[in-house]
Amino acid sequence: MQKFSNAPFHPTPESGLTTAMVTERTTKFGANELVAARPVPLWRKIWQHLSDVSSLVLLFAVGLATYLAIAQNGGWTKTIVIGTILIINVVIGLYQEASAEKSLAALKSMSLPTANVRRDGTVQTVAATTLVPGDVVLLKAGDQVPADAVVLTSTNLAVDEAVLTGESLPVEKQAYAGAAELTAEQQVYSGTAVTAGTATIQVLTTGMATELGQIAGLLNKTKPRATPLQGRLNRLSSWLTAFAVLGGMTIFALSVWVQNQGVADSLMIGVSLAVAAVPETLPIIVTISLSHGVRRMADQNAIMRRVSAVETIGSVDVIASDKTGTLTQNKMTITTYWTPQKGVAKADAPLSQAGCDLMRYLGLATNAEINEVDGEEHPVGDATELAAIRWLATNGLTRAELEAETPRIAEDPFDSTKKMMSTVHRLQDGRQLVIVKGAWDRLPLRADEPHRAAAQRAHDQFGKQALRVLAVGYKIVGADVASDDWARLSTELHLAGLVGLIDPPRPEVFAAIQAAKQAGIMPVMITGDHLVTATAIATEIGILEDGLTAVSGETLRALSDQELQAQIDKIAVYARVSPTDKIRIVQAWQQLGKSVAMTGDGVNDAPALKAADVGIAMGITGTEVSKGAADMVLTDDNFATIMTAVKEGRTVYQNIIKAVEFLVGVNFAQIFLMVGAVLFGWGAPLLAEQLLIINVLADGIPGFFISQEPGEPQAMQQPPVANDESILARGLRQRLAVRAATFTALTLGIYALGRFGLTNNQAGVGMTMVFLVLALGSMIDIYAIKDRRSLSWQSIKRNPMLNRGLIAGVLVVLAIATVPFLRTFFSLTTLPVLNWLIVLGAVLVPTLVLEANKRWQQRRATAPALEVTEGD
Ligand code: ADP
Ligand code: MG
Repeated sequence: MQKFSNAPFHPTPESGLTTAMVTERTTKFGANELVAARPVPLWRKIWQHLSDVSSLVLLFAVGLATYLAIAQNGGWTKTIVIGTILIINVVIGLYQEASAEKSLAALKSMSLPTANVRRDGTVQTVAATTLVPGDVVLLKAGDQVPADAVVLTSTNLAVDEAVLTGESLPVEKQAYAGAAELTAEQQVYSGTAVTAGTATIQVLTTGMATELGQIAGLLNKTKPRATPLQGRLNRLSSWLTAFAVLGGMTIFALSVWVQNQGVADSLMIGVSLAVAAVPETLPIIVTISLSHGVRRMADQNAIMRRVSAVETIGSVDVIASDKTGTLTQNKMTITTYWTPQKGVAKADAPLSQAGCDLMRYLGLATNAEINEVDGEEHPVGDATELAAIRWLATNGLTRAELEAETPRIAEDPFDSTKKMMSTVHRLQDGRQLVIVKGAWDRLPLRADEPHRAAAQRAHDQFGKQALRVLAVGYKIVGADVASDDWARLSTELHLAGLVGLIDPPRPEVFAAIQAAKQAGIMPVMITGDHLVTATAIATEIGILEDGLTAVSGETLRALSDQELQAQIDKIAVYARVSPTDKIRIVQAWQQLGKSVAMTGDGVNDAPALKAADVGIAMGITGTEVSKGAADMVLTDDNFATIMTAVKEGRTVYQNIIKAVEFLVGVNFAQIFLMVGAVLFGWGAPLLAEQLLIINVLADGIPGFFISQEPGEPQAMQQPPVANDESILARGLRQRLAVRAATFTALTLGIYALGRFGLTNNQAGVGMTMVFLVLALGSMIDIYAIKDRRSLSWQSIKRNPMLNRGLIAGVLVVLAIATVPFLRTFFSLTTLPVLNWLIVLGAVLVPTLVLEANKRWQQRRATAPALEVTEGD
């Protein structure tokens, strides 16, 4: 990876690039992005659609019709109709695909990472895609390296380069010292993660020219994997296709041998039946529904980074959420404190001497700051530390003033595994002041600290009030101790006191927790805070209820994997955990066959986010690395948004199920109708071109718009769909059977009535009536299918696009039956008024039957508590 070693390296001036230089270089080097696979050209897409099973069969039919027309010297109707239908099918397919792609492209632009870059002398946050070679970028722990770059300055910079090298141990980096050769230790690479330290880097290459770009070039060649649901539906589709082809072959055989029709004509009708019965729109409806889901979620602050997560989030059994900032507001305030000298006191009252000392120590060991810009507050840093800065401010002090007196000479930064942070300061007399702040039970106090027990009592008292507790210790050492010898510095501390911080729950969280429970999802709280604090908040917001428990990280680590699995469904709160514990929690649930959504914001959370079925990162407070590892990013960091995403995910699933119900039932009926009529000796009740036009209108239009159907409230009152649950479960199998049976009986009956009852064996009348009943009936009953609740005016009005499409479809069918030249084209005849009335009545029958069946299913489902889900 030393490809820059020979390249001359021109240092960028101290103030960074100028805007003019950036513009010039953008033109020259392009955007800093990994170009996705080259766009598929149109002819290729058309080719893909033509090579579908149903298109191939249609192509075959066109060829056959053309042959017949030439052989019989005339009768080009079939060729024209089938050819047109083939074209319509391909155009609809292309259009639907394009609309799905468009919303996914929009999605990509929403989850762009940012970078802090120095340009025109100021530090600005820009989209990482706008970086150009020469840009000077500031890096800190948690950032993703945005481009390949040389390290200019570095403080303990360590980078995880696993994406490139597969090596999971972080690599330490050094600043480039000006030598002729640039080594790998002096460079950082795009896509790798900063695990510790800070650095300034200067960009060398961007976009596809980076090391990652070269790999991505290779990755582009791999096909995207089907989501589990797509997989299941593809399997269902293949079954149905096989059934359709079998149906087509049966009708061909019957036609040739039972009816003694010509081979070519028989082949034609067999082929058309197969085309009509293949649910070719199903896969595309899945894609469209997923992309709709993506868009609706994005509108509601949940950005999906993987399309498959749209369906996974709808079926999670457990949502394990960080407390701080996700369940709570992350607006911390110090409300009370405790000192050995004065005991507990209110933070807003005038301070005692001991309180003042505690506040100063706390302020010194803090990195946050609040900048005033144009009279507006710009807080920078961790919420816990900002609370300390605010406490100083209410007492007329700033951190800068404190540091002017006792300058900081070293820092051991906070991390959520240690749960402590230490700083060292130079006193006026040359000695060093060590301050450690952090979790009370981690603070390394001197052995003979006399106030330990009192502090413990104060700590528990704070915790029970749902306060986060920070303990502060200090000591003074001589100038001789090295100021980074943490083993000697951060021990044997004197206790300065404790502060209690309140972080109120987000107001929406109460309802969201209840919604989760109703939806059969277990909400679980994860926090680095103490067990007492965690328990108090979890009880307040409703996560911790009777029968559930809270455990600390220590207890958790003492459990074996088996022990953990045995009791995991009772543990609602994990306190004092570190990021590594999160993976165990995810895995224990997964061992039980449950799917888990897990939130995280730090670099260390990335593995747990990857392990979870849905990894959720925080858009505001999250590190770039955690976002990179996540499936979903919450732009508002809010737990309630996860529940919104669950609801949208379930809506997508339901809409796909509805599409299956709509597309599949009638396909079966068509096969039964054709085969049945031939067996009765009536001949084919529908011609090839009639079957095909019904297929285009009835499958294409309503099925497409079902993906836009809004969710139903009861979707959130049912348990999640199990990983191995069949799509035919929850009553779908029965509904399909009812619909297929209704249409079969209805169409056979109507045919018989038209041909033998109302006329004296006029096949044309029977055919026309069957055509109308099948086409109109199977379009209109979408209203009974699209809503699991009983049909209502509200539900009819809810999807205007569908209504428009449907009206257009109905008009086309009526036109085919009434406009003279169309009528002859499709071999239909005119009908007397009585027949029309019968047709219009019959068209409503399937809807009525489905409604009645819905009621019946509902009544049956409400009797026992929950419907037992069937396996595959
Ligand atoms: P959470 O994941 O809930 O935010 P953390 O791991 O960040 O939990 O914090 C756990 C504990 O570490 C807190 O209860 C507090 O005592 C301590 N702590 C949190 N932030 C800081 C900080 N910036 N400096 C020192 N100690 C901290
Ligand atoms: Mg924290």
